[in-house]
Amino acid sequence: MTIHMLQGAGYDSNCYLVTGERPILVDTGTGINHRRLVGRIDEVVGDRRVDIVLTHRHYDHVGGARRMAEALDAEVMMHPLDAAPVREGSSEGTSANIFGEVFEAVEVSDIEDGHVIDTGDHVFTVLHTPGHSVGGICLYEGETGILISGDTVFADGVGRWDLPTGDVASLAASIRKLADLHPVDLYPGHGPCVRGRAHERMGIALRYLGEI
Ligand SMILES: [Zn+2]
Ligand SMILES: [Zn+2]
Repeated sequence: MTIHMLQGAGYDSNCYLVTGERPILVDTGTGINHRRLVGRIDEVVGDRRVDIVLTHRHYDHVGGARRMAEALDAEVMMHPLDAAPVREGSSEGTSANIFGEVFEAVEVSDIEDGHVIDTGDHVFTVLHTPGHSVGGICLYEGETGILISGDTVFADGVGRWDLPTGDVASLAASIRKLADLHPVDLYPGHGPCVRGRAHERMGIALRYLGEI
């Protein structure tokens, strides 16, 4: 297995550990599972350096980033349009306030649309997919059709667009862009993964958005 799902509990996001010579952790959850996550990462990749990719600004994905970056000595990367509130430590900008939490600043590097992340086992391209938040990204591997989708699209639904910087028209356009890629496997920010025929889930999501 080269993509390990570290399933979120409660409102915590799923996290994905992608193996290779240069492994990455996609999202960190709120931090509530910090020790369990560090244990799993250690089990899978040993003392190899792991970098962190954050799909978007929300606390349920980035709340654990600061502590995780320290534990792994990792670089943290995200899209510049969502990086600002994370760098500033904005509880409103990361929606930490909605969870009754305070968010502390994290040092992050920018990754733009088209940026390539090669772990050795997988080669992902960063896709800017605004709509759930303005700087949301997905990771897509063309060769395998693997899509790590953050909160843009789930196995059975789409991300909410009513939080700050959310926009339903952009969300629909982003999911259309993903559908055009004909993804095979879907690894979403919450809920179960889909293995095989993931493009059908994009169709269902678009039909749902078309009815709004
Ligand atoms: Zn989420
Ligand atoms: Zn979110």
